[in-house]
Amino acid sequence: METREDSENRPLDFIRQIIADDLKSGKHQRTITRFPPEPNGFLHIGHAKSICLNFGIAQETGGTCNLRFDDTNPSKEDVSYVESIKEDVKWLGFEWGKDALYASDYFPQLYQFAVALIKLDKAYVCQLSPDDIRQYRGTLTEPGKESPYRNRSVEENLNLFERMKKGEFAEGSHVLRAKIDMTSPNLNMRDPVIFRILKDHHHRTGDTWVIYPMYDYTHCLSDMLENITHSLCTLEFEDHRPLYDWVLDSLKTPCHPRQIEFSRLNLSYTVMSKRKLLKMVMGNYVDGWDDPRMLTISGLRRRGYTPASLRNFCRTIGIGKSESRIDMGVLENEIRSDLNVSAPRRMCVLEPLKVIIDNFPVGQVEEMTALNHPQIPEMGERQVPFTRELYIERDDFMEDPPKKYHRLGPGREVRLRFAYLVRYVSHVKNATTGKITEVHCTYDPETRGGSAPDGRKVKGTIHWVSAEKGTPVTVRLFDRLFKVEDPEADKDADFLDQMNPQSKVIVSDAMAEPSLMELHPGNTIQFERLGYFCADHVESQIGQPIFNRTVTLKDSWEGNKK
Ligand code: ATP
Ligand code: MG
Repeated sequence: METREDSENRPLDFIRQIIADDLKSGKHQRTITRFPPEPNGFLHIGHAKSICLNFGIAQETGGTCNLRFDDTNPSKEDVSYVESIKEDVKWLGFEWGKDALYASDYFPQLYQFAVALIKLDKAYVCQLSPDDIRQYRGTLTEPGKESPYRNRSVEENLNLFERMKKGEFAEGSHVLRAKIDMTSPNLNMRDPVIFRILKDHHHRTGDTWVIYPMYDYTHCLSDMLENITHSLCTLEFEDHRPLYDWVLDSLKTPCHPRQIEFSRLNLSYTVMSKRKLLKMVMGNYVDGWDDPRMLTISGLRRRGYTPASLRNFCRTIGIGKSESRIDMGVLENEIRSDLNVSAPRRMCVLEPLKVIIDNFPVGQVEEMTALNHPQIPEMGERQVPFTRELYIERDDFMEDPPKKYHRLGPGREVRLRFAYLVRYVSHVKNATTGKITEVHCTYDPETRGGSAPDGRKVKGTIHWVSAEKGTPVTVRLFDRLFKVEDPEADKDADFLDQMNPQSKVIVSDAMAEPSLMELHPGNTIQFERLGYFCADHVESQIGQPIFNRTVTLKDSWEGNKK
């Protein structure tokens, strides 16, 4: 097998390699892949890995990828999830073949295939209770026991299965099972249930069906009906592959997709299973599925992540077969490198301290020209008003600064970004609280733009906002949702106890420069020296932004500080 490379000269992962070989050998003319979400929750970053793989392969090889809802469990599914999933896949930048497809559209065929299996004496109706089925199944070390119903005649099975379909029996009283091998070392092959009775309303088929096919049975047949060439799934399905193949082989279907497994994405400082995400949403531990702290696609979107950053992340982590945990810093670096070249710079003061420029005329406004990006002149410039009263960051002033502190303090001169050099004069302190309430400075009118004609050097540059022209805004400082790398490490503990109480800090009196009032909901900018922030696309309006911190400028996570 030759080793192939992609358009950017990186070796293909093992799945792309197999596909390239199949196309070259003529085994397939085109690839058809699929992404099969269950509409029982919102998609998360783990799903993004599978989406980028399946849709990515279709894009790269000129094939198609189907979006197929695996909607075989009416009790947990909902149309709102279907809509959010479609939106997320589109937002990530992918398109599906025809319309979105649904496993439920195949219910009639799936029923017919089951009848065919019965006729082949490869399926039977079993009346053991769910508990007994479990008991009879055996364990990894003990073989299973055959059901007393296993050797019913084909006629009897056909009759009972039809009556199951007609709703004559109660839930749990009858199931249809594949007749395979109760002694198989693979538990999935010990006569797995393939149809069960569920008297629930289905979001698409309504009350037409009272029997529903099981996942393993549905999945291979749906793949086959869609002429999927490569059915890509995560490693936990490796042990299900014999069943996937058994169903298709038994029915001698004309198409037999190849199932290939890859390792799922695990990310540090988060949980990934939809069941746990649902628990956090339902218990109000977060503000909904799209809470900007959630590692759902909609949460990441709201947080200010771009589709390109998620696609790049998936490319960076690659596709393999060994289970591993990716550090959250890898994801954060992807969005940093994207926003570094795409986000305009702005000034905002999170914890304002008033500065009064004593020698600047009261009421005067001077427009300073500020670059929107220090390295990308095409991003243009803007005007920022400079006035006698300004705000700077509280921690950019120290009464008694150490030597290495290059910001404002007694006797010091600093540069106000895009404006003037200012020199300390005095400061005022609240006698009771000891809190500094204002700092007085003078500016040097010769230093407009930030450099001194006499060549004197000033080390520190700090950001500022006009007190008179700036606007108070709300800024939400988001951080990691969990305080430990693996919130699920302790199996006896509740993962909810591992949540980071500091994951959302709301600053309601930050001061923003006037141009930020023009920002559209969803737009992302860099607040100079502070990080990347976006105007929340749900709660913001033009003129009334609410900012979400997407990511800090550098990795500032305590656990990663050496
Ligand atoms: P969860 O385990 O989070 O509940 P799921 O596997 O039940 O997810 P599905 O809707 O069935 O969710 O998943 C759709 C597809 O996404 C499947 O093919 C599944 O293998 C894939 N997928 C789910 N989680 C991950 C992950 N962490 N990494 C890679 N692929 C994933
Ligand atoms: Mg699943």
